[in-house]
Amino acid sequence: MDLDRTDIAILRCLQRDARLSLRLIAKEVGVSTPTVSARLTTLTQLGIVKGYAAVLDPERLNETTFVLLVKARPPSTDAVASAIAKLAGVRRVLVARGGRIVVDATVVDPRDVDAVLEKVAGLHDVVDVDHHVAIRALKEEPRAILADALTTSLVCYQCKGPIKGEPIKIRMDGRDHYLCCTSCEKLYVERHRKLKAAA
Ligand SMILES: [Zn+2]
Repeated sequence: MDLDRTDIAILRCLQRDARLSLRLIAKEVGVSTPTVSARLTTLTQLGIVKGYAAVLDPERLNETTFVLLVKARPPSTDAVASAIAKLAGVRRVLVARGGRIVVDATVVDPRDVDAVLEKVAGLHDVVDVDHHVAIRALKEEPRAILADALTTSLVCYQCKGPIKGEPIKIRMDGRDHYLCCTSCEKLYVERHRKLKAAA
């Protein structure tokens, strides 16, 4: 599914300043406020907008950031990465080819670096762990790049699973909703109706 100019323009506004009001975004993008609101609901349903948060500086809070370069036994790479993702202090986990996992972590007390290291090294199927403590951070930008042309894969609005093949598209309240199967469609329409009745 392609994102159109309006979607991308709204996302650009929000990535710059998530505190912008819908009214201000509408003015900047050149559409109505209800359009911005409907588009944002869809972009959230699609899992593109994951939330709105303040950007804090861990360095100003004297926190310690470090990187782990982990090598796992390939059939277990995803399991190892998931276990690492659950550890306290771990902020980002990237899985690469060949059992390689790159981990970004931040701890309040620098002595906790060793605790995280020990836990990772102790995981089953971890072959090697290398670590580097950052002495300064120079740049940190949001990872999503809002290019002029963007596509997304559709997820089912009901079960949040990926939609394989042709989605079931239903139009309610002036916008499209996508479902993976007829049972999800039924549940979703029912939930939507209940929400509307309650409002
Ligand atoms: Zn579904």
